[in-house]
Amino acid sequence: MDSVWTHGQARQVETFESVNPATSEVIATFGVHGRAEVEAAVERAHEAAAWWSGLGWKTRRTRLLAWKSHLIRYIGRLAELVHTETGKPLADAQLEIILAIVHIDWAARNAHRVLGPRRVGSGVAAINLASSVEYAPLGVIGVIGPWNYPVFTPMGSIAYALAAGNAVVFKPSEFTPATGGWLVSSFGDVVPEYPVLQLVTGGAGTGEALARSAVNKISFTGSSATARKVMAACADNLTPMVAECGGKDAFLVGADADLDAAADAAAWGAVSNAGQTCIGVERVYVVEAVYHSFLEKLAERMAGARPGDDRESAYGPMTRPAQTDVVEDHVADALARGGRAVIGGMQSIRRPYVDPVILADVPETSLAIQEETFGPTLTVTKVADLDEGVALANASRYALGSTVFVGSKKRAMAAARAMRSGMTAINSVIGFATVPALPFGGNGDSGFGRIHGPDGLREFSRAKAITRVRMRSPINLTTLSRTDKDMNRLLSVATLLHGRRYR
Ligand code: NAD
Repeated sequence: MDSVWTHGQARQVETFESVNPATSEVIATFGVHGRAEVEAAVERAHEAAAWWSGLGWKTRRTRLLAWKSHLIRYIGRLAELVHTETGKPLADAQLEIILAIVHIDWAARNAHRVLGPRRVGSGVAAINLASSVEYAPLGVIGVIGPWNYPVFTPMGSIAYALAAGNAVVFKPSEFTPATGGWLVSSFGDVVPEYPVLQLVTGGAGTGEALARSAVNKISFTGSSATARKVMAACADNLTPMVAECGGKDAFLVGADADLDAAADAAAWGAVSNAGQTCIGVERVYVVEAVYHSFLEKLAERMAGARPGDDRESAYGPMTRPAQTDVVEDHVADALARGGRAVIGGMQSIRRPYVDPVILADVPETSLAIQEETFGPTLTVTKVADLDEGVALANASRYALGSTVFVGSKKRAMAAARAMRSGMTAINSVIGFATVPALPFGGNGDSGFGRIHGPDGLREFSRAKAITRVRMRSPINLTTLSRTDKDMNRLLSVATLLHGRRYR
């Protein structure tokens, strides 16, 4: 980040640049927002939140649907920006935006049904009460985003938080501020009255200021290491948070799998977006009987994937130079520990590009198995059966997504259920991310809390329970004039209801 004197201004303003990773060209310069700017944005957001929640479900739904239609009409411009800032192919940027739009649409259409008032049974002991539950907005949500899917990923929080009636202050990654800025200004086009969705820009310091501000919740997406720091900052104000962190997703191939489909899915899951996908395929476990044929098919497909900046390239450059160092370390470590490069190797690292790498016979203790690589590489390991594959998949400290390629529906479902990951796709990759009604999130070092679906809407709401007396109680218990007769009646009813013997 640079410190520069802005023209005509007496004070020094710190700025940083957004850079095209393929060409190193500067795209735009942004201000580094400090504590004062962040706190001012959050204060404005509280006022906006009161207005936005007061609009009601129907109006919010219309505004959000207007936003999604704006995004699809201007998809060309947004995709170009995503392509320029991240380096990913234009078609991949379009795919990401369309997926985000599907989520805005779902959140807008379902918020009232999921969060609106709902009657619940009061039970025999409280038969005199009418009971209901509803979900109120929290107020202001601070969304801290990563760079790898700069539209889809933060939208999993933004769309659901807005649909639930909150205002949002969004801090995009310092690698993709222009994309974040475009999203925020496009929302301003359809909701011009109040700053319901605001942008703050900068790096770790800006994110920390947001976590320490008067937001009502932080929704963080990024690495597990940063999540720990954000959580520590949130602790001071007891601000709750959602943590959507890294992954080390496993991909299981059973003996009865469609090997062509499995190889195709694993190859795409490993190299798309240059492997910089939290739910990308990083570890493949293949049942012995089909190991060699699967590996052959996989190598054939991955060897044909070429990174570049032109329209024909399968994927783009590494977005962050530092990530290339991680990939290099993992490949070097795997080879040093006796692993074998089936395709590629150390020579695959051609900054800013990394060619596809398949590593076999890699010990489970190596970095390429233990840590998130976030590159177009994967490990392929032979296992005796599906149970061993599941056990090794679950041995990771990460548990975000996973994939199971198994022919038998029964065995595939059993393996999917046995996976500790928050989400599993059977016979396809990342299916769960495309279904807006499904919750998205992980366990362990992959984080906690859920975005997307009804769980995602509730994540940005507070449950409100209400009971109303609808008739006189046959037994009056909450009074100082309670009698022994009342207690005896209660004991009789409780014994009748709960006294049955169970074996
Ligand atoms: P990162 O942790 O470096 O940064 C994430 C965000 O946190 C950025 O906006 C950054 O500026 C901010 N930040 C950094 N330090 C901070 C601090 N001390 N306090 C507050 N904010 C701070 O992650 P990244 O490199 O941008 O993203 C890649 C990571 O994100 C990978 O681990 C990937 O798996 C993960 N990811 C997870 C999901 C998911 O849904 N689970 C989705 C996409 C990416």
